[in-house]
Amino acid sequence: MNKTSHPVLWIVVPCYNEEEVLPKSVPMFKEVLTNMTAQGKISDSSSILFVNDGSSDTTWELISRYAAADPQIRGISLSRNRGHQNALLAGLMEAKKYCDITISIDCDGQDDVKAMYEMVDKYQEGFEIVYGVRSDRETDTWFKRTTAQSYYKVLHSMGAEVVYNHADYRLVSTRVLDEFSDFQEVNLFLRGLFPLVGFPTANVYYSRHERMAGESHYPLRKMLALAFDGITSLSIQPIRFITILGLFIAFLSFMGVIWAFISYFTGTTVSGWASMACIICFLGGIQLLALGVIGEYIGKTYLETKRRPRFIISKRTWEKADDVPTKAEVLTFHEQADRDE
Ligand code: UDP
Ligand code: MG
Repeated sequence: MNKTSHPVLWIVVPCYNEEEVLPKSVPMFKEVLTNMTAQGKISDSSSILFVNDGSSDTTWELISRYAAADPQIRGISLSRNRGHQNALLAGLMEAKKYCDITISIDCDGQDDVKAMYEMVDKYQEGFEIVYGVRSDRETDTWFKRTTAQSYYKVLHSMGAEVVYNHADYRLVSTRVLDEFSDFQEVNLFLRGLFPLVGFPTANVYYSRHERMAGESHYPLRKMLALAFDGITSLSIQPIRFITILGLFIAFLSFMGVIWAFISYFTGTTVSGWASMACIICFLGGIQLLALGVIGEYIGKTYLETKRRPRFIISKRTWEKADDVPTKAEVLTFHEQADRDE
């Protein structure tokens, strides 16, 4: 194994209008970093990277202030709000230039930071991706719990590989991120893409807490959008299902035609408005639904062909690349230290 015993860890935290939460989560993340450094699990040049996702409140001012006071705290700011998945990707792509491992986590304290210790241990055991998996969903509403669980089942039945009850709390090594940077899709559903990269993976279980402050930015509308992105970016089963449905209905129609002919020639035809209306409405409905699903994929293909940038970083709390030690420098430092011992 060629892993360093002191990997440089960057914790990547997307933040959108989180001014109420940051004063609580910054010390929380910092404590984990300090403890892990003291335990010799990670390098002392590890960092916390906050990604400001175009917040309209004082989130960026807060991040800049924390970064100015503590060299282990860093921030990048996106040029506008791009949504959780893009903000997270921006953070990971930035972090991979400087670190050996990243852990992505939400800003609101819902994910238990204690799981990070175990994640790093798993990395040392040889796993390149470690998924944080919720052991329970007690803090969720009944609605969110049931819809989320049925959603995982639907994804699985369509052949998409997603880790059950895992959101975006995970450790990913730079090695995986380097490969992952070749995944250029615009419709991002990160939790479904990492399993596609491969490499040894492990799970770490934790229980999810309530938000420390502020409110969720995932209303039903955004949740549904993410759910559709998940299905359409991982599977073409819905289009296949439409084909099968089309074949089935075509077969039924063919039988109907035969039935109509027989009725006509046996002289039992009656003028049936209701049955005609039902058939027309039913077929009309199915056709529109089918067109909608196909349109969804064509729309996504259209967006993918444009290859627009998925995020634009407008500000960093550090001036130039030299302000962050490179991985090689950190390595030499530790090799030196190990030799001195
Ligand atoms: N977030 C983001 N951009 C957005 C919406 C959310 O970066 O457009 C961040 C948010 O600050 C938080 C994480 O994504 O750190 C998860 O969001 P939230 O807690 O609101 O979602 P929930 O946990 O309720 O699903
Ligand atoms: Mg949350």
